[in-house]
Amino acid sequence: MANAKPCKSKVQDKVAIVTGGASGIGEATVLAFVENGARGVVIADIQDEKGQKLAESIGTNRSTYIHCDVTDENQVKSLVESTVQLYGQLDIVFCNAGIMSFGKQTVLDFDLDSYDKLFVINVRGVAACLKHAARAMVEGGIKGSIICTASVIANLARGMHTDYIMSKSGVLALMKCASYQLSEHGIRVNCVSPGPVATPLACKKMNMGVEEAEKAFEPHYCLKGVLKAKHVADAVLFLASEDSEFVTGHNLVVDGGYNFRGIVKI
Ligand code: NAD
Repeated sequence: MANAKPCKSKVQDKVAIVTGGASGIGEATVLAFVENGARGVVIADIQDEKGQKLAESIGTNRSTYIHCDVTDENQVKSLVESTVQLYGQLDIVFCNAGIMSFGKQTVLDFDLDSYDKLFVINVRGVAACLKHAARAMVEGGIKGSIICTASVIANLARGMHTDYIMSKSGVLALMKCASYQLSEHGIRVNCVSPGPVATPLACKKMNMGVEEAEKAFEPHYCLKGVLKAKHVADAVLFLASEDSEFVTGHNLVVDGGYNFRGIVKI
């Protein structure tokens, strides 16, 4: 016990941006960062009312809502600049904003306009956030942590949602290139890959309420119980913190063993 270090919150005094931070997995991660000592958490989203309410509930000095549509690179650049102006630096970015396929999107019936709309958010949006976050970290000499949200189905085949699955594979590829290229600056880049979680995104796609969606998902995890946004947020917290200080280029799957089992049609 003589050498034991004093207990410290996992992201004590860090400054973080969470895209898609107004809802679901992003919202749970915002709360996890605040509970673990972050001094500034910027909620970036297009749902202004929800984002502002969340920031207000945390307290304006520790959290700020900034409207940012990740499809617009200028807005992303300005999000990063505003964060550095507000809090003095940028240590952690969670590139998480994303959407599901419009319709079924099977290969034979691909709606390529919908495909474009999805890719511009799920892939280009993540690339823009990663680029501007990394630039700010390099300029500030910050050995930061960048985490992107992929999905457990990025590595699986499904009968539908082809564009969504492709987009999440794209996020994994981006993460691998970025982790390799940014390692010389001491910046770590990793992914979190959730299994199905009954967030507004999944519930809307399934046309179900939270309880109904959770019941539908439950038999498909190997572990007993239900995957919650908080479980994913805990994994993001690990990747953001010094607990993972030598982890980069990793895809952390958080799915209760879903990938060993069957198919949930969302
Ligand atoms: P959610 O809908 O609750 O949250 C997504 C947030 O992203 C929303 O607040 C939305 O407004 C925001 N957003 C959408 N388009 C945006 C844009 N152009 N610019 C900025 N923000 C935008 O859904 P969620 O389930 O929490 O999803 C978060 C991430 O997790 C997504 O990338 C999703 O693909 C991924 N994911 C979800 C599940 C699941 O089952 N829920 C599983 C695997 C991966």
